[in-house]
Amino acid sequence: MTNFPHLLSPLPLPMLTLKNRIVMGSMHTGLEETANGFEKMAAFYARRAQGGVGLIVTGGIAPNIAGWVSPFAARMTAKKVAKHRLITQAVHQANGKIVMQILHSGRYGYHPFVVAPSRIKSPISPFAPWSLTANGVESTIEDFVKSACLAQEAGYDGVEIMGSEGYLINEFLVTKTNKRNDSWGGSFEHRMRFAVEIVKRTRACVGPQFIIIYRLSMLDLIPEGSQWQEIVQLAKAVESAGATIINTGIGWHEVRIPTIAAKVPRAAFTWVTQKLRGQVNIPLIATNRINDPRVAEEVLRENRADLISMARPFLADPEFVKKMANNQTQAINTCIACNQACLDYVFQKKRATCLVNPQACYETELIIKPAERKKKIAVIGAGPAGLAFALTAAQRAHEVVLFEQQSEIGGQFNLAKKIPGKEEFNETLRYFNYQLQTYGVKVLLNTKVTASHLAQQQYDCIVLATGIIPRVPEIEGIHNPKVMSYIDVISGKKSVGKSVAIIGAGGIGFDIADLLSHHPDIHPNQNIQDFLQYWGIDPLNEARGGVAGIMPLDVASLREIYLLQRKETKMGKNLGKTTGWIHRAELKRKKIKMICGVVYQKIDELGLHLLKDGQKQVLNVEHIVLCAGQLPNQELLPSIQTLQTPVIMIGGADVALELDATRAIRQGTELAAKI
Ligand code: FAD
Ligand code: NAP
Ligand code: SF4
Repeated sequence: MTNFPHLLSPLPLPMLTLKNRIVMGSMHTGLEETANGFEKMAAFYARRAQGGVGLIVTGGIAPNIAGWVSPFAARMTAKKVAKHRLITQAVHQANGKIVMQILHSGRYGYHPFVVAPSRIKSPISPFAPWSLTANGVESTIEDFVKSACLAQEAGYDGVEIMGSEGYLINEFLVTKTNKRNDSWGGSFEHRMRFAVEIVKRTRACVGPQFIIIYRLSMLDLIPEGSQWQEIVQLAKAVESAGATIINTGIGWHEVRIPTIAAKVPRAAFTWVTQKLRGQVNIPLIATNRINDPRVAEEVLRENRADLISMARPFLADPEFVKKMANNQTQAINTCIACNQACLDYVFQKKRATCLVNPQACYETELIIKPAERKKKIAVIGAGPAGLAFALTAAQRAHEVVLFEQQSEIGGQFNLAKKIPGKEEFNETLRYFNYQLQTYGVKVLLNTKVTASHLAQQQYDCIVLATGIIPRVPEIEGIHNPKVMSYIDVISGKKSVGKSVAIIGAGGIGFDIADLLSHHPDIHPNQNIQDFLQYWGIDPLNEARGGVAGIMPLDVASLREIYLLQRKETKMGKNLGKTTGWIHRAELKRKKIKMICGVVYQKIDELGLHLLKDGQKQVLNVEHIVLCAGQLPNQELLPSIQTLQTPVIMIGGADVALELDATRAIRQGTELAAKI
């Protein structure tokens, strides 16, 4: 008996029946532009199909050069049909269904050939778009149609027409970006013609047996965005034009409101999809920040949508559906919405992968298969690096003993999970706890390992995953009782007064600033109503764009907080591309004083003495929190090297500089896959 009857119920469509209600949403992975990328994509998508997902949507493929997201991005042409067939055949062999997303970037494209309804530059691209001529509009529509027909020839089960997120089609819909006065601009009737004609002419070309999903921006989150009655009008028009399913789009990319990051509560936007129910007769897909099967089931049970789209959760765990169907939710490797190894990598022009699953997009390269010779391995330290190594080694049938000095596994994740907006880190710990048990790793908690411990047993290999030691900077007065480490603060060992200076503005400095400025009565990361109020979103979606005229909540910090760094560079420069701006925006709103280019002089009863622009200043604060980076913890190394057993170092114990959990988990997994 399944716990997920709604998610697992088939959905009959006019052309075929989907075996369940779960859609893997579109993600650009970078494989599209990689050498042998089609072979890799075939393996990537087939793995998700084997995992039981009902329908897959590919990453966005441009219909023409102007529609490229970036130079030489993936584009549909007749020459590519055979390559795409590798994907469709692999997915169909795995009993899956797959549609190709057609995405025209419009003015968001990062190249000189960008086009838009009008010549208005977007705030997130340096390239001003060329305004499409009337002929240009017609030929762009034809390119959409041609791409859809080529997708059909390549064996796809359908296409998704990307009409949201501020890309070209969305730009036609709103007056902010469409200033035309021909039959493609002006009234809403005219502005929506581009979207409707694409769907209508695509349907005419592909015939009735082909899925057309239209991704409709139901909440633009820009003040000049669509109004609710326009959204309904468009939904009805694309239905009449031949769309099979409507997918939900939330927020333009240029918007400074988070829509998928961990700071967004789970299922925060499903009420938007629900509002459209009953207005059209075709199925609706709910999206954004759904990563848990129980939450997804609830959305369907409460009739908020017909289908659930999850994208990143399928990077984190290709077997999400299979595990869910077997009621093994504990075994799911949950997406923690960090964006670190998926979206942030794509923005850095790197191949996407996943912080919690380094195999994602490396299906043909990072292969975990049974070991040729079983080894007995001691892993010291159950932080992300040690956990990943121990689990992978055990999956390969090695005998693994995992030592941890604390009373629980997780290492620094036990600190991270206490930061507002990082609650999802609990899920990774739940996953590892469950899987270590499943694969028979012997976990010895409360055990601070010494060389003599290890000498009691004969190990084939010792893995040093002992993490880091926080750096204590050499500043006069550093041992003053006012000074505390970030560990003392997060673990609650020491309480922090009403005024505080944070030394170091890296990831941890920002997290500490967030924690110390957190309002006890409002939980925008957890509670949907708080989230909407905090960011200034109309909970009824009646304001234009869902935001016009709505003020975000005033959330000045109750503490006086200084966040400091020595570098002159922008604060938080090394934070993730897709999340750093959220941290910076929040700290600004909370009136935290961010000061760069400081020279620390001393700490005494008056507070923290520093130089800024050559001028002496004293920050008269009650406490000073050190977040000044980390050093490798190799304390054990000299003694265990005497044991004559090979020693491998991973994670922070190996290299602490710029270490993050992505590197720790990948390094642990890759080494264990080879040992
Ligand atoms: P650790 O996590 O430090 O684990 C080492 C383990 O070894 C510890 O459990 C320790 O108790 C144990 N140990 C040490 N010596 C012994 C011994 N002698 N015997 C037994 N056990 C021992 N990273 C991200 O990627 N994204 C984030 O958003 C993020 N947020 C963070 C927020 C905070 C507040 C903090 C503190 C860190 C954050 N990090 C984040 C960093 C991330 O947690 C680390 O990169 C990661 O934990 C490093 O993993 P590790 O296994 O190398 O070391
Ligand atoms: P970090 O990002 O390297 O930042 C260290 C900070 O300390 C810098 O701001 C640095 O700035 C300062 N510093 C370095 N040496 C100093 C010294 N001798 N005296 C005074 N200040 C000094 O490291 P972290 O904040 O400790 O984070 C550790 C790792 O965890 C990071 O690599 C990060 O990737 C990861 N993490 C990630 C996230 C995330 O959201 N992705 C969150 C938390 C942690 P100046 O040198 O300019 O003063
Ligand atoms: Fe999710 Fe983070 Fe993995 Fe991206 S990197 S899929 S956000 S867990």
